[in-house]
Amino acid sequence: MMLAAELALAKVDVAVVERRPNHVLVGSRAGGFHSRTIEVLDQRAVADRFLAEGQVAQAAMLATTVLDMSDFPTRHPYSLGIWQNQIERIMAAWIAELPVRIHHGCEVTGFAQDDNGVDVELSGDQSLRARYLVGCDGGRSVI
Ligand SMILES: Cc1cc2nc3c(=O)[nH]c(=O)nc-3n(C[C@H](O)[C@H](O)[C@H](O)COP(=O)(O)OP(=O)(O)OC[C@H]3O[C@@H](n4cnc5c(N)ncnc54)[C@H](O)[C@@H]3O)c2cc1C
Repeated sequence: MMLAAELALAKVDVAVVERRPNHVLVGSRAGGFHSRTIEVLDQRAVADRFLAEGQVAQAAMLATTVLDMSDFPTRHPYSLGIWQNQIERIMAAWIAELPVRIHHGCEVTGFAQDDNGVDVELSGDQSLRARYLVGCDGGRSVI
């Protein structure tokens, strides 16, 4: 979703293919952002959306030692505790404001590349043609 937002803001025609039916995530693995991630979101003027729902904390660690970065030269000298399902919901609301097409409930089953682009095979005998295909499909990536 972050890459889709970046591409859309750069005026690249972009589509996301997501096999889940929507952005509701059952359970959460990731539990927060470090300072630099908040800075990147701030550069896109959306950091406040995450800060409003998370819990600011000094949570950068070296082994068991907490590194206090409250005097670091950044607007966000802290970590933010926020669950992945909240992150996904906020990201989804953001990209809904951008020209990003999302194909929910659609699985990438294969692809074939040629000199000009890539044909992407989708579940339900559908397909997409694109110049580039980017694998953001997790640890067991098909792509
Ligand atoms: C047990 C566990 C604990 C973790 N704890 C933390 C933590 O505390 N803090 C932290 O920062 N990170 C944690 N992580 C890591 C974090 O969850 C991952 O780094 C992060 O989710 C990776 O994001 P991603 O977008 O690359 O992939 P994912 O979050 O896996 O997203 C991939 C998306 O692609 C979709 N997809 C997959 N295959 C296809 C397909 N063929 N067609 C269409 N869609 C497809 C999936 O439905 C999914 O929505 C943990 C991971 C695990 C497994």
